[in-house]
Amino acid sequence: MTDHQPLIGPERRELLLRAAVRDGLLDPEETPLAAFLDLDAVTETVAALHAAFPARLDVLHAFAAKANPLGPVLRRLRGLGMGCEVASPGEFAQALAAGFAPDRIVLDSPAKTRRELALALDLGVAVNIDNWQELARVDDLLNGRPTASRIGVRVNPQVGGGSIAAMSTATATSKFGIPLADPGYADRLVDAFRARPWLSGLHCHVGSQGVDLSLMAAGVGATVDLAERINHELGRRQVTGIDLGGGLPVNFADDRIAPGFDAYVEQLRRHAPALFDGGYRLVTEFGRSVLAKAGFTASYVEYTKQAGGRAIAVGHAGAQVATRTVFMPDSWPLRVTAHHPTGAAKHGDPVPQDIAGPCCFAGDLVARDRPLPLLDPGDLVCLLDTGAYYASHHFSYNSLPEPPVHGARTDPDGTVRFELLRPAQTIDDLVARTTA
Ligand SMILES: *Cc1c(COP(=O)(O)O)cnc(C)c1O
Repeated sequence: MTDHQPLIGPERRELLLRAAVRDGLLDPEETPLAAFLDLDAVTETVAALHAAFPARLDVLHAFAAKANPLGPVLRRLRGLGMGCEVASPGEFAQALAAGFAPDRIVLDSPAKTRRELALALDLGVAVNIDNWQELARVDDLLNGRPTASRIGVRVNPQVGGGSIAAMSTATATSKFGIPLADPGYADRLVDAFRARPWLSGLHCHVGSQGVDLSLMAAGVGATVDLAERINHELGRRQVTGIDLGGGLPVNFADDRIAPGFDAYVEQLRRHAPALFDGGYRLVTEFGRSVLAKAGFTASYVEYTKQAGGRAIAVGHAGAQVATRTVFMPDSWPLRVTAHHPTGAAKHGDPVPQDIAGPCCFAGDLVARDRPLPLLDPGDLVCLLDTGAYYASHHFSYNSLPEPPVHGARTDPDGTVRFELLRPAQTIDDLVARTTA
């Protein structure tokens, strides 16, 4: 997999979709909605990530659990050599349950409780401290407590935002990290490191989607500059770890991988050459770029209708599985493909159609006015590039149950084998969950 080449294309998706129908994983009555992850494509992507960084460097690629915290997904990524970045007590527990060794877990929650911090320090999980108060809290907790944890500080390089405000973490007023350009803060950080020989890392994460590579790399560059300054002023190599965060943007417009990890590493070489000296242990925290393009979500069309001259296809994929797309359609557009009930691609003259979900509010549309072959009841639609932050991030509107998620692997002879990544939530589960 290199830059600009597709990871998977229409043929592979159609193969998987047909196999899913044939195996009964999609069924108009029993399972009108299901999500799929092409595990071969995931393997390829993780290999491309590893290959993008020079082999002589010590790099821990910690998957951002936020992007898809399903147990079998985390276990598979662990098997492919990744670590795990976690940002809540739930993700922390999921990473441990998936078998990640504590020294391959990185804890980044912005609102860590004392208990969460104490657990991380006791287990030897790496911790990135978010703010001055948390630093004081860690001082307290470390008093007399030995720890194997690598402890760093998250900085906000304040390099600016990208095209999606809600995803831009390095703006002047971002809630994350210690802002480097605020008066006196960089000096105060140097002093903080001087007083605490156990502080050994710096962390930044500039954004998640919508931030271009040079801005991301500039944020890392500012972080590495601070590391060099601390080491220089202290006269010792105290900062030994740089955590670059994640945020490689994903191309949702077509099947190409653009940009790839290689292009980002090239930008890093330009903006942060010291990263490649071999003097730092590196951590990355990619999430979306590891999984998004390997996934798709399939739904049957239940009804079709016309309103005010608009063709509308009503199906089962809506805000409950595509929350961002429904609420912020301009920032999070998804491609949609049309299929016959067998899964075979549907051809025909494109007709602008709204692809509506099952939720009872008017905006529950996963695509608006989208030219597609005219859909009929019983057809299937697929939402593409949904391997991260979609079906795994259920929004329980209208008491719609969580759909099943299946992993797929394809043998060289074209035989598709599925494995369950998350069972469907049953209506009984759902009722039990809402009964005190
Ligand atoms: C969300 C997040 C990530 C992952 O971002 P992606 O866009 O999914 O790569 C990594 N690190 C931190 C601190 C995050 O908040």
